[in-house]
Amino acid sequence: MAEQFDVVIVGGGQAALAASYFLRRTGLRYVILDNGTQAGGAWVHGWDSLHLFSPASYSSLPGWPMPDTPDGGYPTRDEVLDYLRRYEARYAPPIRRPVMVECVERANGKLLTVRTSAGDFLGRAVIGATGTWSAPFVPDVAGRDLFGGTQLHSSHYRNAAPFAGRRVLVVGGGNSGAQIMAELSLVAQATWVTLHDPIFLPDDVDGRVLFERATARVLGGPSAMPTSGFGDIVMVPPVRAARERGVLHAVRPFVRVTATGVVWPDGREEAIDRIIWCTGFRPALGVFASLDVIEPDDLIRVNGQQAVREPRLWLLGYGSWCGPASATLLGAGRVARSMVRQLAAWLASPI
Ligand code: FAD
Repeated sequence: MAEQFDVVIVGGGQAALAASYFLRRTGLRYVILDNGTQAGGAWVHGWDSLHLFSPASYSSLPGWPMPDTPDGGYPTRDEVLDYLRRYEARYAPPIRRPVMVECVERANGKLLTVRTSAGDFLGRAVIGATGTWSAPFVPDVAGRDLFGGTQLHSSHYRNAAPFAGRRVLVVGGGNSGAQIMAELSLVAQATWVTLHDPIFLPDDVDGRVLFERATARVLGGPSAMPTSGFGDIVMVPPVRAARERGVLHAVRPFVRVTATGVVWPDGREEAIDRIIWCTGFRPALGVFASLDVIEPDDLIRVNGQQAVREPRLWLLGYGSWCGPASATLLGAGRVARSMVRQLAAWLASPI
């Protein structure tokens, strides 16, 4: 017999925690289903030296601020994980782990069925909070399958040790590429490959400024902030140090991959041992495909956070397309607050 809830949240990372913080005040009955074995969502899989691009005070979930780091700098992956574990312990959200959600289907005119490794759950509404980590994106470069060396996506990169002394290509001009390039350049023959010249933010601009710009946009006011975005590179200390060493040069992409390396646009072949694709992620929306809500661009059309083609489905945390900065720690809380208000009102009189 399937358990029934007002709201079933799929995924148990920071977005789910932010939604839970506001849901628990509504009196609605809800459950969070997460396939992880521990708290932390995608942060469990971050590389060892990963630093946030904002200080703790700009990286907090609702209710309980992230403690400042001892040096007042940018929190590390382990500090974020510690915060999320303690946040969960503090608020004890109704999370069930590990529960793999396989698909979400329409049960009848009023409910959605969430089919999982732990049986079926029924929800008057479902919040998708599955994040992006399980959907890494690698561009379809010619010859990629021929490569005899090791290829991995940044989602599986841990540290530079296995790359010591190797010829490595770091592909991708965002923060992941810059941070991984910075540490690999200390031990490997690393080449940084980006589509365009990477955009480095000024040293005194970090996630704080980007959040303020996103907020200004939400409030509809004029923004005096730089026109940079979350993809631009924040000069966290390791990246700054790499710049001082003069190693942050990027070259334009190779035209194809061979069994032993790559071919550059001028026809030159180069032997390569490893390729690290720091080429981003896609929203992990596969479990909602059975609702026939996925558009040709692989996204779900939303009005705010509510899916247009299935009003029982709400989405939180995937990117700015479903709420400004909602894929960040601070942004998830801001968007969750308004989403839960609207969701509760909708459940009171669904149309
Ligand atoms: P996730 O953390 O991915 O959580 C989703 C959860 O759902 C996971 O536990 C997953 O296992 C689970 N799940 C997925 N599918 C299923 C399923 N079918 N069934 C059950 N469970 C499922 N943000 C900042 O605020 N500041 C930063 O400085 C910052 N730096 C970043 C640096 C990098 C390199 C990256 C990749 C991201 C960074 N972010 C940063 C972005 C952001 O905070 C994370 O992407 C965040 O983890 C998104 O949270 P989420 O809860 O939406 O998803």
